[in-house]
Amino acid sequence: IISLRDVHKSFGAVEVLKGVSFDVRKGEVVCIIGPSGSGKSTLIRCINGLNNIQKGSIKVEGQEVNDPKLDLLALRRKVGIVFQQYNLFPHKTALQNVMMAPVLVLKEPRREVEERARALIAKVRLEGKEDAYPGQLSGGQQQRVAIARSLAMRPDIMLFDEVTAALDPETVKEVLLTIRELAAEGMTCILVTHEMGFAREVADHVYFTDRGVIVEHGPPDQFFTKAKDPRTRQFLSQVL
Ligand code: ATP
Ligand code: MG
Repeated sequence: IISLRDVHKSFGAVEVLKGVSFDVRKGEVVCIIGPSGSGKSTLIRCINGLNNIQKGSIKVEGQEVNDPKLDLLALRRKVGIVFQQYNLFPHKTALQNVMMAPVLVLKEPRREVEERARALIAKVRLEGKEDAYPGQLSGGQQQRVAIARSLAMRPDIMLFDEVTAALDPETVKEVLLTIRELAAEGMTCILVTHEMGFAREVADHVYFTDRGVIVEHGPPDQFFTKAKDPRTRQFLSQVL
């Protein structure tokens, strides 16, 4: 469903991605781990066209993301992204936040969207919080609203960039549970995460990036116990 080939990305003279290739099949959960600055965020932002690339190819459902003729809106509908900062609209309720894009961007009928938004809020276990403003919700609850908001566009693929990094340990669990349920339902997910336990349990495949390249990858049982590359081993020894 996603295919990257020799992806190179520079910011000015600085090459941040130096030839990244991988494939993600429909329904797979892929975790990307690696040190700060290794290009993880840049990589997933390239997948939904938030960053352009200088060389290589990124295909989503067979469509080249870097094609200048590509319909970016259609791509972003198909590929949802959730960030560490949830960026909810503070003066809108949870329900309004979830409804906004389908109503304003997709011009879908408000009534249909509201029904779907309420179902999504229940799905992320926030029933009863529809009318709460972001400021009245915990970090984990806000992050789950952000996930529901992304799902409201009915994406085929979800990208998560360290969505639990800013949360306290108690609320991390709630958010991971939501992602785990999505994965169990067959949503294709790419997660940048520092939650090794989660990666180990939920991922089908784990990639370790360092300085813009994939240094090592494999299914989690193999990756976490039999890593061969010294950089991977060193990183794992620090975080496990
Ligand atoms: P972290 O774990 O800290 O989130 P990361 O692996 O996500 O790190 P990136 O955010 O992808 O790393 O950044 C990789 C490199 O690209 C860094 O050196 C960063 O300074 C640089 N970079 C990222 N975005 C930009 C930008 N918009 N302009 C210039 N340089 C950038
Ligand atoms: Mg990052």
